Amino acid sequence: MAAITNHMPTEELQALDAAHHMHPFTHGAGLAAKGARVITRAEGVWLTDSEGNRILDAMAGLWCVNIGYGRKELAQVAARQMEELPYYNTFFQTTHVPAIALSQKLAELAPDHMNHVFYAGSGSEANDTNLRLVRTYWAAKGQPEKNIIISRWNAYHGSSVGSGSLGGMKGMHMQGGLPIPDIHHIDQPNWWAEGGDMTPEEFGLERARQLETAIENLGPDRVAAFIAEPVQGAGGVIVPPETYWPEIQRILDKYGILLIADEVICGFGRIGNWFGSQTIGIRPDIMTIAKGLSSGYQPIGGSILSDEVAEVINSVEFNHGYTYSGHPVACAVALENLRILDEEGIVTKVREETAPYLKEMFETLTDHPLVGEAKIVGMMGSIALTPDKASRAKFEADEGTVGLICRERCFANNLVMRHVGDRMIISPPLVISREEIDVLIARAWKSLDECLERLSAERLL
Ligand SMILES: *Cc1c(COP(=O)(O)O)cnc(C)c1O
Repeated sequence: MAAITNHMPTEELQALDAAHHMHPFTHGAGLAAKGARVITRAEGVWLTDSEGNRILDAMAGLWCVNIGYGRKELAQVAARQMEELPYYNTFFQTTHVPAIALSQKLAELAPDHMNHVFYAGSGSEANDTNLRLVRTYWAAKGQPEKNIIISRWNAYHGSSVGSGSLGGMKGMHMQGGLPIPDIHHIDQPNWWAEGGDMTPEEFGLERARQLETAIENLGPDRVAAFIAEPVQGAGGVIVPPETYWPEIQRILDKYGILLIADEVICGFGRIGNWFGSQTIGIRPDIMTIAKGLSSGYQPIGGSILSDEVAEVINSVEFNHGYTYSGHPVACAVALENLRILDEEGIVTKVREETAPYLKEMFETLTDHPLVGEAKIVGMMGSIALTPDKASRAKFEADEGTVGLICRERCFANNLVMRHVGDRMIISPPLVISREEIDVLIARAWKSLDECLERLSAERLL
């Protein structure tokens, strides 16, 4: 059979894809009937598909392409590293320059008390590491029964058995016997959907205090750590009320419980600083990193540990690691990505220019009849779709029905905007320009109009 290339007709590529390639988080038969969109190239914030459409990627791939597509420097670094040392492990008393250099750079960028990196191939693997790290930490300190990890419903921490258990996605727990034991979930600070009659400030405190109640009920001598994303990403870009995080930090300090900040999305400039923890003012013991670490150009993740946690872990043999922990090509590419983010002032520019402009424009969407609230922090935002803004009502159709219609209108208008239930979310490359933000908002507005028409036609309002 002839080589499979971009030049083949779209239908043939789709048929082959359906025949042999299984997609993550997808109803396979449903997709096979429709045909997957074939992406062939990308540059900046623009994707090109096999039909020649130019699509504005307002999701930066899967929240990861922070520096935008098509940066040749990363390709060159990868090629050079593959020629020099394509692979070597770091298990058996060996190391190499890419791992050393990336670790040094991460220690420089991370909060002052965090200077130690354990690598993984992805965010999921990194959170599996964290699960074992915090339990090993307490065991090394003579408290092996202190092994429960508290997380939140609707959190996303990855898709492996460990990280999927840490996450709070009920649809994932339903399949494959999750969660594993000794993971406890509390409610999320989603005021729009769950705040009832409370003000956002009251609600933020109420949700944070669920952590204290859980610690008291489980017993402070049983709780090892709390894990959370500074701002929930895959759960629908849930920006917590301002009262939430200070109260969480107070409770963690009071009981001496470790904080794992899952920075896989919020890190590397996404919410206006190198780490989301800095934006929201928390003091983690461990941070999970992946995605923007390499801008998605190579698969790499990891855990950044505080000096204190690293010292305890280093006092034992930690029986854990991955073949690709500290992979030299991935490390070299990540380091080049961080150099670009740093030297081109992209993180600062986000905080001072791009994010304020995006916020101003994004919030205009609340003038649309379907949009209840627009929440945005740095370069990640969401809008809540509703049939009635005043009462924050839900649609009568099953949750996600309207969101999916809206997403399909976005897709048709060459805008990648995702839906989580009936929230629409964006997380564009950090390098998006003002003009491109204008295009994003114009296409979103048009898609919302078309969605509203469809809802009226199908009596879904
Ligand atoms: C994507 C994500 C993960 C999982 O990362 P993978 O690289 O997909 O394994 C973990 N945590 C958060 C917050 C994420 O968004």
